[in-house]
Amino acid sequence: MEEMARIGATKGGGVNRLTLTDADKEARDLFAAWAGEACLDLRIDEMGNMFAKRAGRENDAPPAMAGSHLDSVPNGGRFDGSLGVLAALEAVRMLNDKNISTRRPIEIANWTNEEGPRFPPSMLGSGVFAGAIPLETAYETKDADGVRFIDELERIGYRGDAPCAPRSIGSYLELHIEQGPALVSEGVQVGVVEGIFGLTWLRVTMKGERDHAGPTPMHMRRDALVGAARTIAAIRDIPAKLHPEFVATVGEFSLSPNAINVIPDDVTFSVDFRHSEPDLLAEARRLIEEAAHREAAKENLEVEIQEVGGSTPIAFDESVAQVVRSACEESGYSHRSMWSAAGHDARYAADLGPTAMIFVPCVAGKSHSEEEDMDWEDAYRGCDVLARALLKTADS
Ligand SMILES: [Zn+2]
Repeated sequence: MEEMARIGATKGGGVNRLTLTDADKEARDLFAAWAGEACLDLRIDEMGNMFAKRAGRENDAPPAMAGSHLDSVPNGGRFDGSLGVLAALEAVRMLNDKNISTRRPIEIANWTNEEGPRFPPSMLGSGVFAGAIPLETAYETKDADGVRFIDELERIGYRGDAPCAPRSIGSYLELHIEQGPALVSEGVQVGVVEGIFGLTWLRVTMKGERDHAGPTPMHMRRDALVGAARTIAAIRDIPAKLHPEFVATVGEFSLSPNAINVIPDDVTFSVDFRHSEPDLLAEARRLIEEAAHREAAKENLEVEIQEVGGSTPIAFDESVAQVVRSACEESGYSHRSMWSAAGHDARYAADLGPTAMIFVPCVAGKSHSEEEDMDWEDAYRGCDVLARALLKTADS
């Protein structure tokens, strides 16, 4: 983990390994070298997804897969993603050391572009692999400088020959830091992840009338910023009406003309809201739209609400979650069931075979930050549970 964290290391103790940059290539090269040392057969697909395969007794059986990602957000943490890839490698090294054979082959996956800030959307590699995103769409995706995904993939030498298309997998396991405070605050050692929240992304635009901040009387104003601000305040209160784990965020905001002496006439903001229940997601959307129309009407604004992205909640396979629970019990670790509020490649893997995730605590629940940290004991426990569960699924 420490050697991998040196690639793209930042002064603040994090890593900067944006997808398909030189640092991403270096991380891939290191993983490939380690996979070679562990006698794994490495295949790279058309999206640059890397699959390191350990042969099974029935080598054509759908593989027991485990993996995560080696890319990061800008100035991200050392554990997000890397833990899942390197723990899977460690599990396979352990099987090698002990000469343990498995019925199914085992494949360790390093998915391309899990994070997505350079080439949105996130989980692009696993999305194409699952058939949810067309390969051509992924190839044509451009970064902020107008550089195409396909050109960068070729530049770093990771456009592979293996088709990136759905194939059957026997099972998929992903170990990951929790990226939230539940395990830390409850003092629980392992999270057995039973599904991933669905999310909806909206873009709300409010239009009023631009005018002089001096001579325009208050009662004549159509101030787009006032309508937007009141709507955002209302959105902040919606989750509490729905469920304790419901979350909603306004993270993007733009304002025109953004000048000290001009009444704003054009405001756009985003809304991101997430939960495990489709009905509650639909109800939240209704409440958000109601709030936007109500506040826009008070200020006599035009309002437009567009859906710009989203995914449905995914419930994982209970049988794999049960394997993870048994692994925790074999080792005497405390565990609890939970859902992930963040997206992971496991979301798409679940379309191809029975899937579960293993969460371990990270310090203060913090991630996507240079301050992201974890105790090595927690990393060890996660790796132990992953290895036990992987062995069971590979022999099933
Ligand atoms: Zn991650």
